[in-house]
Amino acid sequence: MFLKKFAPDLYVQSIYDIKLDLLKKQGINTIVTDLDNTLVEADSPDFTPKLVKWLDDLQELGFKVMIVSNNSKLRVSNFAEALTVPYIYRAKKPIKTAFIKALKQLESKACETALIGDQLLTDILGGNRMGLYTILVTPVSEKDGLGTKINRRIERLIVPRMKKRGMLP
Ligand SMILES: [Mg+2]
Repeated sequence: MFLKKFAPDLYVQSIYDIKLDLLKKQGINTIVTDLDNTLVEADSPDFTPKLVKWLDDLQELGFKVMIVSNNSKLRVSNFAEALTVPYIYRAKKPIKTAFIKALKQLESKACETALIGDQLLTDILGGNRMGLYTILVTPVSEKDGLGTKINRRIERLIVPRMKKRGMLP
């Protein structure tokens, strides 16, 4: 069914609500994450100590991590390099190309990879098309880039239909 392509496997308030030990038990060892409004507010250059701790926790638990963002080279490289996390910019999600590249670089399989993102039309759709375990988070802030604003309008049409069918809590 059409809506199913947009349905996340898991829906949490924020990245900090993801039970990392449970992911591990599910056989997931790789995390591919969106940047804007998933890790921090859209276009904010600042990362929080909490985010640094979260990334440390991931590493400690043995997860491989990559940031895959549709944003520009400047935005993504500045942010990711400061955190020493590998990244792909201008990913063109939901197109699969960047995810294929990410998995290749990380030497991970789709079935052992989780995708985290705040948008149904880019992150979740793309992750589902790749067969990743998709995790939707509530956007960190209401501030969105221009392209995202359009996507949000479409989301607002899709979300009530998904809720009606029990595909989103
Ligand atoms: Mg985002």
